Amino acid sequence: MRALAKEKTEPGIWLVETEVPTPGPNDLLIRVRKSSICGTDVHIYKWDDWARATIPVPMVVGHEYVGEVVALGSEVRGFAVGDRVSGEGHVTCGHCRNCRAGRRHLCRNTLGVGVNRPGSFAEYLVLPAFNAFKLPADIPDDIAAIFDPFGNAVHTALQFDLVGEDVLITGAGPIGVMAAAVARHVGARHVVITDVNEYRLDLARRMGVTRAVNVAEEDLWQVATEELGMTEGFDVGLEMSGSGVAFAQMVRTMNNGGKIALLGIPSGEVSIDWNAVIFKMLTIKGIYGREMFETWYKMAALIQSGLDLTPVITHHFPIAEFQRGFDVMLSGQSGKVILDWDA
Ligand code: NAD
Ligand code: ZN
Repeated sequence: MRALAKEKTEPGIWLVETEVPTPGPNDLLIRVRKSSICGTDVHIYKWDDWARATIPVPMVVGHEYVGEVVALGSEVRGFAVGDRVSGEGHVTCGHCRNCRAGRRHLCRNTLGVGVNRPGSFAEYLVLPAFNAFKLPADIPDDIAAIFDPFGNAVHTALQFDLVGEDVLITGAGPIGVMAAAVARHVGARHVVITDVNEYRLDLARRMGVTRAVNVAEEDLWQVATEELGMTEGFDVGLEMSGSGVAFAQMVRTMNNGGKIALLGIPSGEVSIDWNAVIFKMLTIKGIYGREMFETWYKMAALIQSGLDLTPVITHHFPIAEFQRGFDVMLSGQSGKVILDWDA
């Protein structure tokens, strides 16, 4: 089969021929139809410090996809050949305290599809059946292919009650703009998103935010107070940039009692004004991955109740043109980029 693999310990990714993987007794064999490119794949492509320390070479990468079940292990129940699925990319141990308590997203022994085990930039993927998510018929393939990052957005956005609240999202990358759309859909009052990249801010505008603020050019507090009439600051903050500068701005502009969910991954240590956290009595919560599988059910239900994510998908390429997909991701001038294995 064809697969995109990290073949060499240098920047790049390579289209290779490799063996179709064999499913174990508890696994599904999935024929991948579409796989989208994640920021993680870009780290692996660039071969940065994190990738060097994490990825064994050679490794088939990728973990955002939609496909079809083509074979089942002997112990698998609840799935059939022909089922359309996406899947949770965190493969958990099942025997640690958190796993046994049903808090699989907190497993200490998590392995990542396309990071620590072969991934979905391939014609076929082996996945534990436990990790597969059977897709309702009314979820289109393109949307299903981005369920993994959509899950990060949903998991973060639904941490705190958003109904009637003023929400600040820092970082209008694909996950930030999807979180903004979720906040709108579930009934937030103002959804304000910040970035320094105009392409991304435009994407956020197409996703229906109240106001997209270019913080390199505009003053966020001025926009919030003078333009939107908010006198007390934001009630909920979703940090989705990984930028320490953005996080500091969020802490400054939160109302007393504000709640912050942190998804963005900073490249190093970030300092924080603890006095603001204390005197405002802020709640700050880190978010990792998706809840298995509550987040997945919420995702399907949000789409079924009319949430429109289509603007976030900005590019499609047939697999033979994968390099163009990575180039556009590297340029920062994209939302989600989907690679099509059937084309
Ligand atoms: P992305 O890199 O595409 O988007 C981040 C955006 O932040 C960019 O558009 C960038 O221009 C913007 N930004 C940079 N400086 C800023 C500033 N000062 N103010 C406002 N915006 C600024 O990333 P993504 O794929 O949308 O993912 C969002 C974040 O979530 C990333 O940090 C990613 O590493 C992280 N992530 C975390 C998890 C998890 O489980 N915790 C999972 C997936 C992604
Ligand atoms: Zn575990």
